[in-house]
Amino acid sequence: MPVFPRQGFLWGVGAIAAPLIGAIPAQAATLGIGATAAQETYYLSEFLAGRSIGTAKEAETVDYLSQRLSSFGYTPELQPFTYTFRGQEFTSYNVIAERQGTSSDKQIIIGAHYDTAPSSATLDRSGLEGTNDNSSGVGVLLELAERLQENTNLTVKFVFFGAEEIGLIGSRYYANSLSPEEVRNTAVMVNLDSLVLGDKLYLHAGRGATDKPDWFRFRDLTLEIAAEYGIAAETNPGLNPDYPAGTGCCSDLEAFDFLMPVVAAEATNWDIGDLDGYTQTSNPAVPGGATWHIPSLDNREFINTVFPGLIEQRTRDYTLIFDTFIDRVDADRTIVPEPTSFLGLVVGAGSGYLMLRRRRSAVK
Ligand SMILES: [Zn+2]
Repeated sequence: MPVFPRQGFLWGVGAIAAPLIGAIPAQAATLGIGATAAQETYYLSEFLAGRSIGTAKEAETVDYLSQRLSSFGYTPELQPFTYTFRGQEFTSYNVIAERQGTSSDKQIIIGAHYDTAPSSATLDRSGLEGTNDNSSGVGVLLELAERLQENTNLTVKFVFFGAEEIGLIGSRYYANSLSPEEVRNTAVMVNLDSLVLGDKLYLHAGRGATDKPDWFRFRDLTLEIAAEYGIAAETNPGLNPDYPAGTGCCSDLEAFDFLMPVVAAEATNWDIGDLDGYTQTSNPAVPGGATWHIPSLDNREFINTVFPGLIEQRTRDYTLIFDTFIDRVDADRTIVPEPTSFLGLVVGAGSGYLMLRRRRSAVK
C-alpha cells in the first residue's frame, strides 16, 4: 500500500511537497492515509458496540486492541486498575503500546479512550456504537501506531484508556503511574476524543498552558500542520469564561493538562449552545445538536445519513495532522537536544543528523 512520504528532507519545504521529479498532486502524496483509521472506526462500531465498563464487549475490545497492536509489531501491555462505580467494584484496563526511542529519553504520549458510556436507569446503551465517541479516536490512534514503523529519536507511547466515560478513571490511573522523571521527560500528551461529529475540527491545548504559554507551542504546531494541508482547524475561542480560550476540556486530557503540555483533538462547535463545546452542530437533523452517549444518534448509519463522508474525512484529517506532528516533534532539536560530545557535535552539525532522523520509504 502506498503511504505518505515522511518528513526527513522535506522539513521546512512544506509537508505535502513531493520529493520526486515533478509535482505530485497532494492526493497522490497522501493516498491511503486514513484508510485504517476509518476502517477501525467502523469495526469498533459494528462489532464492539456497547463496550462500557464491566461488559463482555469491554473485555473483547481490550483483546481486539491488543491483537491489532501485536499485528503492527508492538508488544502491548495491559495496565489493570480497580475502582468503584454505583457501589460495585470493577477492574478495567489501559492498553499500552510503546515504540522505544533510539536517541533520547524524552517521550510523546498519545491517548484515546475505547469505552462507551454505560447504560443508565432511563437509557439502554448496550447497543451504543460510539462511532464518534470514541471509535473515531481509537481508529486514528491505531493508524498512527501502524504508521510508526521506523525508529524515532523519542519514545512514542500509544495508550488506549479504559473507563473514561465514568470519570477519566483509566487516564488518571495512567497519569498517576508516571514517575516524576517520566512526567518531566514527556514532551507532549495528545488526546483524541470524538473526532468526527461536529461543525468544526478543533485542536486545543490543556488548561495548564494558560499559566505556561510555552505549552501552547505544540497546539500551535498542529494548527500550522493543518494549515499546510489545507485542513480548516480552529481552537476553543473562549466565549465561555469557564473554558479558557485555546484550551480543551472534558476528556482524558484533564488527567495530564497541569502536568505537561497537551494537545486535544475533537470535532464539535464551541460557538453555539452553552458555548461549552457540548453542542456539536447547528444541523437541524441532529436533535438538540448533540449526539454524545445517545445510541440512536452516535452510530454509523445516522452519521452517514446526515453527514455523508464525514467519518472518512475527519479520521483522515486527524491522522494526517498527528502523523506529521509526531515526525515534527521527533525532529525538533529543542526537544531532542544536540549531541554534547565533540564527536557528536561534528556529526550533529553535518548531514549525519538527517541519517539519524526517522524517515519512511514510499512503499510499505
Ligand atoms: Zn469520549
